[in-house]
Amino acid sequence: MVTRSETMMTRIWPLAKAGRMAIAMMAAMVYASTSVASAASAGCEAPGDKLGVSRIVEIDTHGGPIFGSYTKQEHEASFLGPKEVVLTFDDGPMPWITRSILDTLDEACTKATFFSVGRMALAYPDVVKEVVARGHTLGAHTMTHPFNMFRLNPDVAHDQIERGFAAVAAAANGPIAPFFRFPGLADSHELMAYLQSRGIAAFTVDVVSNDSYIGDPKRLTERTMREIERNNGGIVLFHDIKRSTAKALPEILRQLKAGGFRIVHLTSKTAVQPLPDLAVAMSDALAKAASKSGKPTTLMPFYGTTGPVAGQSAQSPPANGSSAAVTATADSAVGVALPISQLSPAPRQRVASIKASRPIVKADWSRATHKVRTAGRRRTIVLKATAN
Ligand SMILES: [Zn+2]
Repeated sequence: MVTRSETMMTRIWPLAKAGRMAIAMMAAMVYASTSVASAASAGCEAPGDKLGVSRIVEIDTHGGPIFGSYTKQEHEASFLGPKEVVLTFDDGPMPWITRSILDTLDEACTKATFFSVGRMALAYPDVVKEVVARGHTLGAHTMTHPFNMFRLNPDVAHDQIERGFAAVAAAANGPIAPFFRFPGLADSHELMAYLQSRGIAAFTVDVVSNDSYIGDPKRLTERTMREIERNNGGIVLFHDIKRSTAKALPEILRQLKAGGFRIVHLTSKTAVQPLPDLAVAMSDALAKAASKSGKPTTLMPFYGTTGPVAGQSAQSPPANGSSAAVTATADSAVGVALPISQLSPAPRQRVASIKASRPIVKADWSRATHKVRTAGRRRTIVLKATAN
């Protein structure tokens, strides 16, 4: 295991558009960092047999590079060597899942990058702050997670990007990385050009865990490890809104360590600059939400997500951050009357039964509905958003 003092830091400068592909990584400077305190939490200075962080890669997002292989766009060469892995988590924060994942990462003395949804960040700003405070890197994943960004009117799509960053930055109450991930990895040349004009890096992936569709932690672990081994590492996509992810992560990290994989922690050279008017608007929205004291905000954003444990506030973590705790029934306060066992049928059933994804990403989530076929019956689940 690489100890803290041996942790290496690499800086990546993107190329100008011409010749973006090959030479960038050659030019990357590698040097020993003396300021990697954030890479090691308390007790992780000498992580011993823990997974740890083997290397920090600092990204200069000037010019808007795109990293990862799941794209048709021209992209940067990988900054990862053989057996190097970047852990990423999308769609959160969702307190009872995200905090369990944070605990697991702490336990392994390792770091990840979170691409949070703006709407979620406004609902759970405390968790957003926790992600940063625990040394992870925070980027954005649009405001309301439309799956069809490439089909939207460009102004609407740009607004999704900008509001997402402004909301996540406001919730963090501090600088966040100019790191963006497209919902559903559905990018486009036009939107990439917009990100480049804003000096924002886009991250697609190299390995998909498929945790959106695999509800069984054992199968999720097997699938994830198989894909990581097949790709010999890479940028791995998870979701911190999935209880299967929270439950599988300890074993995945254990197997990564046992398999000789090493974790690379991404950081950004500069912070994103939210548009000033949106920064004000998001701060106002947060202040307004905070003034509703005694009414904890709850939000159920997507199908396949699970509610907090009955009797617990959505704002408080499960006992001991235990991922097992999220297997209990949903709190009716979140507006989902069904037990989780029915909310989350076997993954294949669930995928086959989603009739429409569009209504879920409507601006007014309080009326968002989707239909799930459970045990042969179709149910309409109303997702109530009490954030506003
Ligand atoms: Zn997503």
